[in-house]
Order: sequence, then structure tokens, then C-alpha cells
Amino acid sequence: MHAMNAAASPLPLPGTVNPADGSPLEPVPATPAAEIRAIVARARAAQPAWAALPLAERIAKAELLARRILERRAEVLALMSRETGRSETECLMSELTALLSMVRGHVRVAKSALAPEKVKLSPLEFPGKKAWIEAVPRGVVAIIAPWNYPLGNFMKSLFPALLAGNAVVLKPSEHTPRTGAWLASLCAELFPSGLVGLVQGEGAAGAALLESEIDAVVFTGSVPSGRKVAQKASEKLIPCSVELGGKDAAIVLADCDLDRTVVGIANWAIHNCGQNCAAIERVYVESSIADAFVERLTRVVAKLRVAPSEGPTELGPLQNAAQLRIVEEHVADALAQGAKLCTGGKRTGSGFGYAPTVLDGCTEAMRVVSEETFGPVIAVLRVKDADEAVRRANDSRYGLNGSVWTRDIARGTELARRLEVGVSLVNNHAITGTMAELPWTGTRETGFGVAMSRHAYSTFVRRRAVFVDRSNDPDAWWFPADENLRPFGEAVVEMSLGSKAAMFRVLGLLKKRVRAIRALAKG
Ligand code: NAD
Repeated sequence: MHAMNAAASPLPLPGTVNPADGSPLEPVPATPAAEIRAIVARARAAQPAWAALPLAERIAKAELLARRILERRAEVLALMSRETGRSETECLMSELTALLSMVRGHVRVAKSALAPEKVKLSPLEFPGKKAWIEAVPRGVVAIIAPWNYPLGNFMKSLFPALLAGNAVVLKPSEHTPRTGAWLASLCAELFPSGLVGLVQGEGAAGAALLESEIDAVVFTGSVPSGRKVAQKASEKLIPCSVELGGKDAAIVLADCDLDRTVVGIANWAIHNCGQNCAAIERVYVESSIADAFVERLTRVVAKLRVAPSEGPTELGPLQNAAQLRIVEEHVADALAQGAKLCTGGKRTGSGFGYAPTVLDGCTEAMRVVSEETFGPVIAVLRVKDADEAVRRANDSRYGLNGSVWTRDIARGTELARRLEVGVSLVNNHAITGTMAELPWTGTRETGFGVAMSRHAYSTFVRRRAVFVDRSNDPDAWWFPADENLRPFGEAVVEMSLGSKAAMFRVLGLLKKRVRAIRALAKG
């Protein structure tokens, strides 16, 4: 199928064409609902033995999985390249190079997030007692993923879920089912039978997975689907982490290092053809340098090459025809409303390729500024100063990453912290997406989910408070209510207000109260 026909003809079924050239891919059948229930049941059966292993053994298995993925990378790169249209080099760079260091980070986080926490109790108030908090795996965690990073979207949650002692059911996107299936089959080789399950299919399969006996869900995807998932999870009273769309802004100040800034912004806007939840889609540039910035950014972006092509390429095509349509609609709407096309603005190749695009003179009235584009399009908005930039950057339905580009690090940090986003950066963007120690999170319609860091663990474990009383005496406030109870209570209050004398009164009354309580028991 030629891309020129994509907008006019009905869209191909998800995941059935190679986005690079439109050649057909063998369809991957959806998992029937009854089979989904059985997959979850097998995961549930496998989970207790997995959770009972010492953490060190789960760590060893998790590290082995990461190593095997890398050792067998040729297999997955070929699959991923076919279903995303990206070159194998791009897939390698964006999904595998940081994997092992990320997994080591997951291990460090797991050790602290899963360690029992001692709670200090005052020996005077709570004699002979001790308490601690421990992490208990949820059970079966469903991980529902989108298509933009067919492997990476699983990596951020699969490792902490398993390290925490859970079973996992993976639900890849219907657009990229093969990479997910490869990952699940590798897990089946390394982990106990049934521990990592796989569900294929469109939204209906994801919905059926949510209907099954799962204990938690990590959802990454669009806002409309995320709302449905959050509603279903709240109905079932199970924890849910939703990581949804973005419309990230970069703020370019007049004192920035222009060369570094234009390449950094081009990179984080066009990386993965802009199909990155934290892609820079809006650039607010101070008007005093706007002409120079746009001119250099245009020069850089015009040089970027779309796969498939002879020699190296910086980006692949859009992954699917529906996404290509959105990109074309956003660019057409911007041009109709007076934006200037600096470069790009047209399809490339015979698949879903689209030339990296810079639009100058954009405004909030344009869809390319107000809606997620998820494509290789940079909307430039000129602003008077940094305050205006921050105000307009914050005027968004989303809030994932936000960055400020400047040589003045202190001012940049202060401005970045005023951005209403989950990840604030200075002179970089989206780079923390593979850093396991940092929370990947957002505001507003980006959703309340937290991926990675110890803050993600509320999805993967519940906390159990354990309290052990080794005291031989009954507690002094137990029944009966005798003549010493009120003086005892008064002394406790005064002691808590800081009276030393009251402390001695408490000690004296304690003994009398304990005698009275024991007498009550004896009858
Ligand atoms: P999508 O919502 O269409 O699909 C995501 C996944 O959810 C797929 O596996 C799909 O089959 C499943 N699904 C759809 N409806 C469902 C339902 N009712 N119940 C359960 N599962 C359901 O999203 P997409 O188009 O595949 O992904 C693109 C979106 O993902 C973009 O908005 C992007 O910003 C977002 N994204 C966000 C992050 C993040 O970390 N915030 C990361 C990557 C992508």
C-alpha cells in the first residue's frame, strides 16, 4: 500500500503492515477472553513460590533476563524494526543500549523499596513492643503497553513488578504484538511456568484482562483508554498507575548555547519520529534570538533522514496510518491558521514516513500546540520573555517533561521548577526516561501514574504493618476504669506537654493500674 493512499482508504488492521514500506505482516491473533482468565490463573498459581524466593534470587533472575535480551538482541531488533519501520540501529539505540544500566538501577531501588522499615516506639509509652513495615507483593500485575517503544514500555515496569515478587501479565499494543510476544517467550524460558503471561489483541483484550482476577494494573497509553482503565480499576478497588499523553514544552532563553540547544531540541522532538510521550512538541523561544534559533533549528531538522533510505537514518516512519493522519491534520490546521512551514510538511517513502517538520509563528489556537501530535513536528512560539514562556508552557492539558535551555543554570533551574510537570529539566529533555532511580510521572491529563523509582512501588506492593508485643504486663489503659484511671490519663497528657514531674507520676500510677487490671482478670 502506498502512503499516499493511506488518508483516503480505510486504515489497515493494526500491526498488519510494515510501516516503512507498507509490506504485509502476518496478523497476530487476539487472545480469547476465556484464555485470558486461564493465563491470569496460571500467573496467580506461579506467584507464591516466586515471592517466597529470597530477593537475591529474584535479582539474579531479573539480571539474567536483561542479559539474555541483550545477548539475543539480533532477534528482537529484526522483529521490532519490521513492526515499527525504524532501522535496527535506531531500535538498538533507543531500546537496548541503556537496558542493563537501567536494570541495575531497578535492583538498587528494589533493595531499598522492599526492605523492611523499622518503626521507633517510645519504651515509656509502648514498653516491650516493637513494630515494622514490610512489603507484600500485590499478586498478579497487568502491564498494558502502547506501541511507541515496544520493548522499553515494558522494561520500566516488568523488572520492579517481578523484583517485588509479583506475577505479571504483559499486554502489548495491537500495533506491535511481535516484540511483546518475543519478550514473553524469553521470560517463559527463564522464569517459572506461567509467571509471566501474555495477552494479545486490541482494546477489548486489555479490557478483558482488567475484568480478570488481576491485583494491580500499570497502564501506559492514550488519555481516553487511560480513563477507562482507571475507572475499571477504581470499580475493582485495585491499584492502578496510568501514564498517558504529553505535549512537552521547551523554553529557549536568549543566553543559551545556541548550537547545543538546537541539536538537543531537534533530538528530543524528533527522536523516534516524535512518537515519544515526552517529545518536545512546543518550543517557546525569546523573541530576541528567535530568528537565529529558527534558522539553525530548521537547518538541523532538514538534514534528518527518514528510514528506509540508503545509509544511516535518524528516524523511522510513523508507526501506523492513524498516527500519520493526525500529524497531517495538525500540520494542515497550523498552516491554514498562518503558521510558517520552515521545513518538512510532507510524506516520505512508500510507508508512513513523514519529513521532520518545523513550524514557526505557532499559536495556542492551533491543534499542533493544544493537542498531542505524536509525530516529527516542532511548533515554535515566540515569546517576549521567560515569564511569558513559563505561563504559556503551563497552559496545557498535559504535564510530563518540561525543559529550560540557558547558560544561567541557577535561573534555568528556578524556571524549570515553575513548570507544572512531572520531570523538570535544564539543558536536556526526556533523558531520565531510562533512569530507574527517578520517578517518571506527570500532572493533569498525563495521569497520576509513577513509573520507576521507589515511588512506583505502591503499585507493586502493599505495605503490611507488623506489631509484636513482648511485654509481660497488660497495657495500663485497659479495663477496668478505677479511681487511678483519670489521674493516670492527666499525668500522661502533662508528660506529653513536657512535664518531668508528670513522668514520675505516670511511672507510679502505671504499677497501680497494672495491679488493678490483673485483679480484674483473676476475678
Ligand atoms: P492506546 O490507549 O490506544 O493503547 C495503549 C494500550 O492500551 C494498548 O495495548 C491497547 O490495546 C490498550 N487498550 C486500549 N483500550 C483499552 C481498554 N479500554 N482497556 C484496557 N486496555 C486498553 O494508546 P496508544 O495509541 O497505543 O499509545 C500512544 C499514547 O501513549 C500517546 O498518548 C503517548 O503519549 C502515550 N504514552 C505515554 C507514556 C508515558 O510514560 N506517559 C509513554 C509512552 C506512550
